Amino acid sequence: MTAEGVPIWDRFPSHQRLCVNFTLTCNIACDHCIVESSPRRRERLSTDEVRATLSEAWENGRRHVTFSGGEVFLYPREMREVITWARELGYVVDVESNAFWARSDELAREKLTPFVEAGISGLALSADIYHMKYFPVERPITAARTARSFGLATEIQFCRSHHRERDEEIIAALAAAGEPYVVLELLDRGRAREMLQVWRGHRVEELSECDDLTTTLHATGDVYACCQLDIGVDQMKRTPVFLGSIRSADSDAAARDRREQLVRAFYDPESPIYFRTMVRQHPLFQPLDEESFSNICTFCMRALSDPARVAALEELLHAAPTAAS
Ligand code: SF4
Ligand code: SF4
Repeated sequence: MTAEGVPIWDRFPSHQRLCVNFTLTCNIACDHCIVESSPRRRERLSTDEVRATLSEAWENGRRHVTFSGGEVFLYPREMREVITWARELGYVVDVESNAFWARSDELAREKLTPFVEAGISGLALSADIYHMKYFPVERPITAARTARSFGLATEIQFCRSHHRERDEEIIAALAAAGEPYVVLELLDRGRAREMLQVWRGHRVEELSECDDLTTTLHATGDVYACCQLDIGVDQMKRTPVFLGSIRSADSDAAARDRREQLVRAFYDPESPIYFRTMVRQHPLFQPLDEESFSNICTFCMRALSDPARVAALEELLHAAPTAAS
């Protein structure tokens, strides 16, 4: 949270935010990890790729970047380079970490110092049963306390499990330390998919809004219109949420922009192609009203993996300004 109590992601509107999943290597392998990071994963961006993406995104109006992974504290030299570059461009920079390094106040200061000197503004951390399988909740608490002593905004993210007692213990430890936390929804993707075989379905009218439209560069060089990646299967790549790869020779920035605009419009209540309007009114989308979805992202993959539906959205979006003029 910021000093004003605002979640650190919400300091900037989504169209100004960029997320860079720098690496898939992580020192641990949480059961719920949506990007399926682990010590065995090797995918990583080069610092040149990150610099180029930061520059292009700055030109396109992005002003805030979060470096995530995997675990970025495994790569302090590379992080220092890209954070410095981002700051020189003018970005506000946050990093996400599992805080494995915060074994004591002294060690936490030592590990955080290079990031602070490079110019980060915020640190997002995790405390839940999935992370605390590997180390105690005191680590994220120590990391958050140390980060605030440097003047950083901090945020501890908590994800519920079906082990209610253990969840309550972690929440009690956070409360005893005076650490606020935000609750995240467990998504049925990545490794969490296996845990969520049984799930109450929701009709479209019951689904939440999509509030994770942050352009995200993944460690493989792929770019997505949101940060809730679903990359263990191909489905996301069959939707316009997948924007292409920075490693592709025929990478087309204009095509990427068009796809991203379409996804943003699909989740914008003011747009003519807002998803609830489409499900109420358009014959290609109306059948979705008969189905159940575990959450908005499951609906998203189902709705947008049909090329006919995407073509209809493109046509309507393209027609909208003319109709209004
Ligand atoms: S959830 Fe975070 S800490 Fe856990 S394996 Fe994934 S990247 Fe690593
Ligand atoms: S609803 Fe779609 S665009 Fe939004 S976060 Fe979920 S998968 Fe991403």
